[in-house]
Amino acid sequence: MVNLESFKVIIAGGGIAGLTLANALEKAGVDFLLLEKREIAPQTGASIIIQCHTARVLEQLGIWNEIWAATFSLTGRLHFDERGILFDSSSIFKQVEEATGRSIVLIERRSCLNTLYNGLKDKSRILVNIGVASFWEDERGITVITDRGDSIRGSILVAADGVHSTIRDLLAGAVSRTDPERSQYLTKGFTSSYRAVFGTSANGPRDGLTRPLLPEGIVHHVYYRNISGITAAGAKGLIFWFLFIKEEKPSTTPDCPQYAETDTRATIEKYGNLFACSGYTFSDLWEARSHAGMVSMEEGVVQGPWNNGGRVVLVGDSICKTTINSGFGGNLAIEGVCNLVNGLVSLLRRNQAPTTQDIVATFNRYEQVQRPRADISVKISHSTTRYESMDSLWLRFLRWLSPWIPLSYQVKSFLSYMNPAPILEFLSDSGSIRP
Ligand SMILES: Cc1cc2nc3c(=O)[nH]c(=O)nc-3n(C[C@H](O)[C@H](O)[C@H](O)COP(=O)(O)OP(=O)(O)OC[C@H]3O[C@@H](n4cnc5c(N)ncnc54)[C@H](O)[C@@H]3O)c2cc1C
Repeated sequence: MVNLESFKVIIAGGGIAGLTLANALEKAGVDFLLLEKREIAPQTGASIIIQCHTARVLEQLGIWNEIWAATFSLTGRLHFDERGILFDSSSIFKQVEEATGRSIVLIERRSCLNTLYNGLKDKSRILVNIGVASFWEDERGITVITDRGDSIRGSILVAADGVHSTIRDLLAGAVSRTDPERSQYLTKGFTSSYRAVFGTSANGPRDGLTRPLLPEGIVHHVYYRNISGITAAGAKGLIFWFLFIKEEKPSTTPDCPQYAETDTRATIEKYGNLFACSGYTFSDLWEARSHAGMVSMEEGVVQGPWNNGGRVVLVGDSICKTTINSGFGGNLAIEGVCNLVNGLVSLLRRNQAPTTQDIVATFNRYEQVQRPRADISVKISHSTTRYESMDSLWLRFLRWLSPWIPLSYQVKSFLSYMNPAPILEFLSDSGSIRP
């Protein structure tokens, strides 16, 4: 293996993108240091679907088995109308599993993050409760200043710091006078028209429940006008649930609402009486919760370039945000990491001391391949959110039509989305380094 240790990647953020990047760099033998502003894997009540193409990348990284041990395959989707009547039932997950040979699973986000963290051999490269506050760069590298005032020297800085990215804000600030238009793209890149209440609850006789609400592997969807819901029995003994509500008016970052617990409670008081499926309401799920929260569902792809023409590049939610309904956001973040690392490893194998120009060219190529994936993912998620909440007359008609759309067509569409997703090119499927 080529020694790539002279090049050092500083990663801002230990979420899905940052920890996946850390694992990929460790496997590739590239030095890195990850700074996470908070703790790793906080409990928020959020969950994450892992699609088949992402499972393949996690297999390459050697961490799929731990995820699989905590979950089981999603199998069926049942769709209910606003009267609680089942109008469609589909085995799409099962069919996709048969076609790809890989499962679709749903796991607590914190379990996914813990697994990514546990997958790292050298944990001394992860610094927690330390954020990136600013940076400066020169022709030979970049210096990151932490929120404790320390300086850390590296070769590049990867912003994996989420939708409220500090680094994206720093990039916007840096060009606010010279290029106000780009500054606006960076600050106002996302809009939000929906909010999501989400939670994790017991799926069994405890915490107020006398029986499991739904069988393992089953996902329930409920459709109201401007409101929709998803409940899924994904991980052992747990239900993950979502209540999506259209906002009275859309907002744009950085002014999208950030909700406190009192807002979540008020929303449940207002909408909790709605059935999540015949037999139980969102209030039942809320009462049986271990954790829950409410977020604004920002969406959009920030206009390029996704780098600063220097040694800073953005990945994950910092640059592309999908609504939650399709379960694409975290999977897309992992795709972005694959495309970025593939480019970096290829560059470093050719040249272990690349110039800033070489690095920018690699960042631009990453964006070139990732942007179409980001665009399509945001578009599908946007449509799914509106479809599920029957946002227009046409979508109400489409929902009525949906049971007649052949399953084979739905499976084909799903596969055509998954198939072009990247993997880590420098690793074989078993995780060994390719020459
Ligand atoms: C309720 C809910 C359900 C979801 N369900 C799914 C799903 O089923 N499937 C799916 O694919 N996606 C899902 N998503 C989306 C998915 O969680 C995100 O797309 C994904 O977490 C993005 O990962 P990220 O690493 O880019 O950002 P984040 O996960 O937001 O991580 C960013 C990290 O950076 C840290 N940070 C911030 N600023 C700094 C700084 N200055 N310095 C250092 N660290 C910093 C933060 O503390 C955080 O840990 C869901 C999201 C929500 C809210």
